Amino acid sequence: MASQGITVLGSTGSIGESTLDVLARHPDRYHVVGLSAHSNMTRLAEQCLRHNARYAVISDKAKANELKSALDQLKCKSEILAGREALGAVASMDETDAVMAAIVGAAGLEPTLQAVQAGKRLLLANKESMVIAGELFRKAASEHSANIIPVDSEHNALFQVLPENFENGLENIGVERLILTASGGPFLNRERSSLLNITPDQACNHPNWDMGRKISVDSATLMNKGLEVIEARWLFNARPDQIDVIVHPQSIVHSMVSYLDGSVLAQLGMPDMRTPIAYALAWPERVEAGVKRLNLTEIHKLEFYPPDLESFPGLALAFQVLEAGDNAPVIFNAANEVAVEAFLQERIGFLQIPSIVSAALDVCETGKIDGLDEILEYDRLAREATGRLIHKNKGT
Ligand code: NAD
Ligand code: MG
Repeated sequence: MASQGITVLGSTGSIGESTLDVLARHPDRYHVVGLSAHSNMTRLAEQCLRHNARYAVISDKAKANELKSALDQLKCKSEILAGREALGAVASMDETDAVMAAIVGAAGLEPTLQAVQAGKRLLLANKESMVIAGELFRKAASEHSANIIPVDSEHNALFQVLPENFENGLENIGVERLILTASGGPFLNRERSSLLNITPDQACNHPNWDMGRKISVDSATLMNKGLEVIEARWLFNARPDQIDVIVHPQSIVHSMVSYLDGSVLAQLGMPDMRTPIAYALAWPERVEAGVKRLNLTEIHKLEFYPPDLESFPGLALAFQVLEAGDNAPVIFNAANEVAVEAFLQERIGFLQIPSIVSAALDVCETGKIDGLDEILEYDRLAREATGRLIHKNKGT
């Protein structure tokens, strides 16, 4: 089999690093085409040298010189591509066979979509793109015969236990429900009143997963599960009433599908993102991922509970957003990104994240989405509106 060219967008992040770890285990199978970063030039240069990347891509043009000196220092010969357009260019070039979309947030939308429009296999970690532009992704994947393989552990689990023809409608293949598992984050079983003075470091201290700071906060608010419900709607052509969320603190069952004959199929494994990453890379084959094997006799018990929507209103909000449709997911996601950033900078409290997102949904105008331009415009407007809400909030 010919070696496949892989581009990793967001290679310096948590998913990016795990992807490079899996790739390095299979040098005959994969080679690295492009690696991209936003700010950590030293790490990007080290990665380019170690993985012999053809292109080092920096999304911020102003940092190209800094990247050049970092590469020169290591005598690394990777070619520099700079600017936001460079991300899409490397994702869609001929040498790239598959793209790992691991940029965080809506910033990843354009290059991720371009990869699909170029007919590449998309390994999708950047859930925010799918949340805000699900319909565009579905259309582009079918027009350009691109495969989208979910990397998010829950969706990867569902992809593993669904039959291949799920695209035709879940009810046509005997599926009753998709059951997304949620760890519950670091504040599982905490009363709402005890969450008032949570610090960013406490929110980012996830019990099972080691992730970037934005998704860690999202896991603590359960906004992550809300985003995942919307992601599942688009990835699996599911209606909102076909999606359930269940809290499972051990993060061993990564999700389940329940069928109308009473069968429930689940995918299990250790909480290590290298499993879904390896699956997405090798699909429909399987490769070694360097992951500790699951030993259920060491884990002893697997627990399941209903989610606490009172302490964590973000999840209920996501279902409302899904019902509202149109640009509501764009507002939801943009407001959440701005609110999380404000929380990480200690400008707002933990409990204000969902209330600010809810307020943004109230004040932003609703509207239909026909294409990328509208999404980008609604995203911009929602960010501005959320900024104003945060400002006003501080004054009171
Ligand atoms: P991270 O913060 O660790 O890494 C983010 C990467 O994106 C970095 O390489 C950074 O340089 C790049 N980046 C950030 N802002 C950018 C911008 N404006 N333009 C271009 N590049 C930018 O994040 P992560 O935890 O690796 O998560 C990445 C994505 O994967 C997120 O969408 C997250 O929801 C999803 N995801 C992550 C995990 C996990 O375990 N970490 C699990 C499931 C899904
Ligand atoms: Mg997930």
